[in-house]
Amino acid sequence: MSRGLRLTRCGTPGAANTPNICREEIPMKRSIYFILMSLALAAAPGAAAPQRAFAAAPDQVRKMTYQEARQRLRPAELPAFWVGSVEDLPSRWAKLSAGHAREIARSPGGRPLHLVSYGERETVKHPANFNSAVGGRDPASYMDKAARRKPVVYFVGPVHGHEVEGLTGLVNLVQIMETGRDLRGKDQSALRSLGGQCRLLILPAGNPDGIARFEPRAIHGMPKDEFQFWGMGTWADDSIAFWPGSKRQHPRTGPEIGWMGCYFNDKGVNPMHDEFLAPMSTEAPAILRAAMDEGPDLAVSLHSHESRPAVLRPAYVPLEVQEQVRSLAERAYALLAGRRLPHGSLPEARPDTCKNMDSFNLVSALHHISGAAAFTFECPHDVADEKACRVTFDEILDIQLSVYEAMLRFAMDAKQKGASPAGQKSN
Ligand SMILES: [Zn+2]
Repeated sequence: MSRGLRLTRCGTPGAANTPNICREEIPMKRSIYFILMSLALAAAPGAAAPQRAFAAAPDQVRKMTYQEARQRLRPAELPAFWVGSVEDLPSRWAKLSAGHAREIARSPGGRPLHLVSYGERETVKHPANFNSAVGGRDPASYMDKAARRKPVVYFVGPVHGHEVEGLTGLVNLVQIMETGRDLRGKDQSALRSLGGQCRLLILPAGNPDGIARFEPRAIHGMPKDEFQFWGMGTWADDSIAFWPGSKRQHPRTGPEIGWMGCYFNDKGVNPMHDEFLAPMSTEAPAILRAAMDEGPDLAVSLHSHESRPAVLRPAYVPLEVQEQVRSLAERAYALLAGRRLPHGSLPEARPDTCKNMDSFNLVSALHHISGAAAFTFECPHDVADEKACRVTFDEILDIQLSVYEAMLRFAMDAKQKGASPAGQKSN
């Protein structure tokens, strides 16, 4: 084996044993350097490991200022169906006729987060919060999901501002639910019909501050260093930030930080890694409260990365729920393959251990506040790199809509079998 493996991931669990996400191979000698540096720092008596020592091995110390990044921007040639900003979202929501939009929070930058819903909300027994209901050995005491006629499906748009593939997908989904056509004008009446058989909760922009900071409006065709700049940002010396060092300071503010990347809201908080029991910001609590109030059967957090489309293992949820997510992934991948679209590997259910530790992130919290089968979906950006998954703008939208379709079919099948996707049985 002549090459080492380094993963760059966008804040989601399950990556360590998932070969198809955010993968970046680097020569083994660089890995050896990285290991030796880590050991040397750990051995230094009394030395607190400096954040920057882990931020980048020498080969990765690429510098870029904000001005340089802006100068590299090419003229925008975005298709009309692409949505890469939040500016016109409120005016879109004001025109809804079939759906209903409500503001559920304001970002630190003063930007609204809207939840768009379709389908009647069904009133069922809801005497306890999920945690207490589980303590009472009866998840249905949180919400009698089996008594609902329709499944409830929750789509959480990008909480990382440069991952606008999910924003584009969800604004198109809203258009489909309103008109039966996507923003390309393509007939999507079959998807609209599926959506009409569910209650849909659509939160198109999970981090409007980060999206507003994303001036390129799309990563599509962007070289890797620029992609990394707009995502993770830079350190004070203008070197581009890389995972995992970039996550070792959070909120990402203070004198060590250069340009704040689009992962973060205006307070430097990455909503995927908010402190859910003592929140640092407004977005993640609002996303979770919507789940708590509605009790979705199925929930997705939409992300993007360099590699093929991938459903990720949700961490710190029961193995049965992880298996459900794997079944959903099988369904989504079959749809993608049938449409000649790429897909990655299936997630593997496994216990969470200290040896192979993932973070308890927003997706984990979505399950533990609502009982939903919650997962992360990663869509390719089309980074201009030989190891990246290359896709067109159209394919990106088709990938998004295919995954939504798979989710709706999966939730409806579970409802017909008398079970919530997360396993709550019918009475
Ligand atoms: Zn992400």
